[in-house]
Amino acid sequence: MGIGGASCPEERSGIMQFRTGIGYDLHRTGAPRALRLGGVEIPADSGLIGHSDADVVLHAVVDALLGAAGIGDIGDLFPDTDGRYRDMDSRVFVEEAVQRIRAGGWECQNCDIIVHAERPKLAAHKPVIAARVAELLGVAADRVCVKATTNERLGSIGRNEAIACWAAVLLSRAETPGRR
Ligand code: MG
Repeated sequence: MGIGGASCPEERSGIMQFRTGIGYDLHRTGAPRALRLGGVEIPADSGLIGHSDADVVLHAVVDALLGAAGIGDIGDLFPDTDGRYRDMDSRVFVEEAVQRIRAGGWECQNCDIIVHAERPKLAAHKPVIAARVAELLGVAADRVCVKATTNERLGSIGRNEAIACWAAVLLSRAETPGRR
């Protein structure tokens, strides 16, 4: 049986395609607004500077999804020159990216995330962020892992001038004859 149940000949044959994608983003700290990571508001001295809500976690996840499906990057879909996206809740970007990968027949299997921040400490927030990202991706909570690391006080992240994030995803779909 194919992943997700055998509903077509390709799935019954068990032939699946897999694609990996990575995403990276960085935003500067110092914005007079809430810090939002993975769609979760985190208590902090300041928020992140950016055109949208500057949620580095969701931006990295979007780029990983789009990259795995081979359909561009977040700047192609949501250009920061477009006033519609000012202060936009980045959950909207993830929802759109998920819609687009599903239109191509792809399902997200898992998402692995590393947040790079000197402050605030994120240990207590990791499960909450993972649950929120899983909800947005439409996958079980145990398919999203959120890890956090400091930059050992080195560089812009180490000076708490920025927060960065890496994300990796695996997509799968049943192979269909004639589809590339
Ligand atoms: Mg960004």
